[in-house]
Amino acid sequence: MKRVLITGGAGFLGSHLCDRFIKEGYHVIAMDNLITGDIRNIEHLFPLPNFEFYHHDVSKFIHVSGDLDYILHFASPASPIDYLKIPIQTLKVGSLGIHNCLGLARVKNARVLIASTSEVYGDPAVHPQNEDYWGNVNPVGPRGVYDEAKRFQEAITMAYHTYHGLETRIVRIFNTYGPRMRLNDGRVLPAFIGQALRGEDLTVFGDGSQTRSFCYVDDLVEGIYRLLLSDYAYPVNIGNPGEITIREFGEEIIKLTGTKQKLIVKPLPTDDPKQRKPDITRAKEILGWEPKVSRAEGLRITYDYFRSLPDEELYKAAYHREFVKK
Ligand code: UDP
Repeated sequence: MKRVLITGGAGFLGSHLCDRFIKEGYHVIAMDNLITGDIRNIEHLFPLPNFEFYHHDVSKFIHVSGDLDYILHFASPASPIDYLKIPIQTLKVGSLGIHNCLGLARVKNARVLIASTSEVYGDPAVHPQNEDYWGNVNPVGPRGVYDEAKRFQEAITMAYHTYHGLETRIVRIFNTYGPRMRLNDGRVLPAFIGQALRGEDLTVFGDGSQTRSFCYVDDLVEGIYRLLLSDYAYPVNIGNPGEITIREFGEEIIKLTGTKQKLIVKPLPTDDPKQRKPDITRAKEILGWEPKVSRAEGLRITYDYFRSLPDEELYKAAYHREFVKK
């Protein structure tokens, strides 16, 4: 049985990866310090003999006994609201955390796949973004702690590949959504759906003309799985090229939820990228991958998930947003 370590295994993406590797017959070790992850995302896996959970901070020395075939580094805060709240941890997990993973990989002779991000492109001057674009990042802005950590993470991963001959993979993840997103992470989709469910107006930041391209989580996981098993060491964009303005997205959520509320305008956060859309030519050519789930279908599944959460979760999320703004 192949053995895989997934850091950030209790998070949104990490937990979906745990599910996928369990389904594929792997022994899965999920590691998480639970700062932004949630044990409830993986509690259904606890009874399985081929699943283990290590409550550990990956920025500290990692010990795993036994063999490891693969290490997937998915531990990191991943929303602007989180970077503001825990900027130092964000920097540490993208630097010390990946260094520990790479060291462990050398000892175990394991292949490493790192979660990078479209944020390495910053506020992009090239549209759509392909992997050869170097980006437009403000290192000292509020997103700098995340963007620069992820850029460093790519650099150190390539260095271990070229210098130590380690097998490495880099996925650049564009905006992804689905069940188990945190209602209070400040991202646009849980924000809008949470507001609709609480009967609040939906907060559009700026004039809402900025664009994003939203990928359903199952499509993303499929792309990551294929990349891991490929022999390609350079970065690969995985995302859905279906681009939409945030205002139109708000209107879609109003329609989906049937809320009587309206869109209201709030100030645009600093360094908010104006447009974002992946060029997925490389993923198509190398992995034979492209997204399959339409936004209508993915949003319906995600809405049903948020609707099934207890009311106290909804109101806790609202309180958290207010608290973080202060
Ligand atoms: N956004 C918004 N209202 C919200 C939360 C976010 O209009 O309540 C906007 C945000 O300014 C950005 C877009 O939605 O332009 C996507 O934001 P998110 O935080 O989800 O992801 P990212 O900016 O990292 O792509």
